[in-house]
Amino acid sequence: MFVTPGAMLGLLGGGQLGRMFTKAAQSLGYQVTVLDPVPESPAGLVADNFICADYADSHALLELSAHCVAITTEFENIPAASLKKLEKVCVVSPDANSVSIAQNRASEKEFLVENNFSVVPFVIIDNTETSVKINYASFLPGILKICQFGYDGKGQRRVNNSEELKAAIDDLNREICVLERLMPLICEVSVIVARSSDGELVSFPVSENQHVNGILNISIIPARISTELAEQAKDVAAKVAERLNYQGVLCVEFFVLEGGQLLINEIAPRPHNSGHYSIDACFTSQFEQQVRVMCGLPLGNTDMHSAAVMVNILGDLWQKGEPDWGYVLQQSSTKLHLYGKLEARSDRKMGHFTVLGETADMALSKAIEIKDHLEEHCKG
Ligand code: ADP
Ligand code: MG
Repeated sequence: MFVTPGAMLGLLGGGQLGRMFTKAAQSLGYQVTVLDPVPESPAGLVADNFICADYADSHALLELSAHCVAITTEFENIPAASLKKLEKVCVVSPDANSVSIAQNRASEKEFLVENNFSVVPFVIIDNTETSVKINYASFLPGILKICQFGYDGKGQRRVNNSEELKAAIDDLNREICVLERLMPLICEVSVIVARSSDGELVSFPVSENQHVNGILNISIIPARISTELAEQAKDVAAKVAERLNYQGVLCVEFFVLEGGQLLINEIAPRPHNSGHYSIDACFTSQFEQQVRVMCGLPLGNTDMHSAAVMVNILGDLWQKGEPDWGYVLQQSSTKLHLYGKLEARSDRKMGHFTVLGETADMALSKAIEIKDHLEEHCKG
């Protein structure tokens, strides 16, 4: 039994991930209702139906479940209680339990440790008696991260010593945090997997991710790591999905250390920025895969038909005026994606472009050339 095209699908969250999901669903013939508290959200603008309400609004959730045969999410901070309510009346993927684990850095790390996955040395700082007595020295220099609602490096402070740690705890309003040791990274990679309700699992090619100020800047695919390490990363990502009994699209971010040691950085219960390349470079995109899982369709082929490099376009690019899109558009192997956001703010993800190439290195040099051009020129 699968949900046939024409049916209405529900989406919690209206950001760019939701916009790309909505387009993938629509191209398969489905309709989409988006629920988001922001009136002109990227996904809301292209959805067939839009409910503008808070994620905890019972009436709005009732309306969503009354209209939709299956519901998914593009945002990990949807209250788990809302997903639980929906689960009683509708098919919801991923489930409330997986989302609630992934939306909190402490529960995420505890889940990973309990299941014997390797993670960065960390300690939870919750300002209780016990946490005050912990000797933090072995986690310094480190990164202090708030447990909830952090994204794109926001809600994080780098700390070198205990004075800086104290100041950072205050600066983050004494919220519950994890303190992680700052690791010497060889590189960062991520794996996106899709897992169906009957346990079928496929993984996408491994992406190598370069960040600037905690924000993803460039993804290179396939990652320039050994085949063995890539297989190992895929294997660990699949195990995470299995341990969660996960249904949907899941991203596992890894740190690669000297000697090829893999540590899980974090997991995201949804499609991921590092998987955007799949729209243009794979037979099935991560967003189509999300539609396929929630509708009970067979999972699609995740193979790449070319190597790819994805570059994020942040709001900072608008500082001197509208970027020179003409230059991007005249490149024969480059695909431009803009998210329809009305205001270009610093560090805000406004779009991305993906360069296809015979090899990752060829795509990378072209991508850097385009990126440099965009940073130097604008239409004025
Ligand atoms: P977010 O949820 O904002 O993506 P992350 O925890 O993934 O937060 O951190 C963002 C980036 O900061 C990482 O991709 C990595 O480049 C860097 N980073 C985070 N934690 C560490 C660490 N413990 N050691 C070294 N680099 C780190
Ligand atoms: Mg991250």
